[in-house]
Amino acid sequence: MNYRHAYHAGNIADVLKHATLALVLDHMRRKPAPFRYVDTHAGPGLYDLVGPEAAKTGEWQTGIARLVDAPLPADLALLLAPYLSTVEAYNRAPLSAATLTTYPGSPEIARHLLRPDDKLILNELHPEDHDRLVALAIGDRRTKVLSVDGYQALRAALPPPERRGVVLVDPPFEEPGELSRLVQALKDADRRFATGVVMLWYPIKDERPLTAFRREIVETGLDKVLQVELTTRRPDGVGLAGSGLIIRNPPFGLPDALSRLLPALVERLTTGSGAGGSVDWLARERVR
Ligand code: SAM
Repeated sequence: MNYRHAYHAGNIADVLKHATLALVLDHMRRKPAPFRYVDTHAGPGLYDLVGPEAAKTGEWQTGIARLVDAPLPADLALLLAPYLSTVEAYNRAPLSAATLTTYPGSPEIARHLLRPDDKLILNELHPEDHDRLVALAIGDRRTKVLSVDGYQALRAALPPPERRGVVLVDPPFEEPGELSRLVQALKDADRRFATGVVMLWYPIKDERPLTAFRREIVETGLDKVLQVELTTRRPDGVGLAGSGLIIRNPPFGLPDALSRLLPALVERLTTGSGAGGSVDWLARERVR
């Protein structure tokens, strides 16, 4: 386990993942019934943007830093508010690239947006990152922190007793076969909790493996599967050109919100030719 997200926190992929996650959680909390958030590969929770790891790559400078310094029209600012207000809560307000020092990862975004009766299951296998998560959750009776394999955590945590939930599967892509494990995770989640919102994250470096991945997703036969992708340049097989999310059972309104938001994100995050954003149904709702 060599992967440390501290080198990548706040980068282009985090912006897409966390802006989308915050929109999904914001939608979930509009209904009074409590729900559960399950984060299978949670990371340490908070990142120091002025620390040595973030400074070594500077990835956040072309991610969250660009976003906070480029004002958006009011309707789009509203869509980014759940995400950016969370980032602001960990920094000196008003948010600007010059004053950003801390970046909340997926577990802290969820802890910030969830209500007193909602629950969080956070799983992280790396011992240091796990201990940091535990320290952040001290005194928070909503949160349980686990340390097992992420896919095992998914199976153990589903179905949630609340029967409402969001699952984020955000593996490090260190080992071959991760895309196939994501497909299996989607099937496992469906068997245990067919109505849950499931988000699978994947990197875009090379288009070729993704064609087979999308086909495998379609071949699961599952309905209501949305795909969101954002690239900041054309993928050429070298380095991260962007990322994508597969979202099963996306909340009503999310496809439209993302379709409106993506062009503005692409415009702000572009680093080269061939940048783009897309929101597509891989499988629509089945008419019964
Ligand atoms: N979800 C986090 C966020 O958005 O802030 C980032 C997670 S990072 C991409 C992936 C995490 O998975 C790393 O913190 C890594 O230590 C952890 N990890 C690696 N192998 C794992 C495994 N088999 N099970 C669970 N976590 C694992």
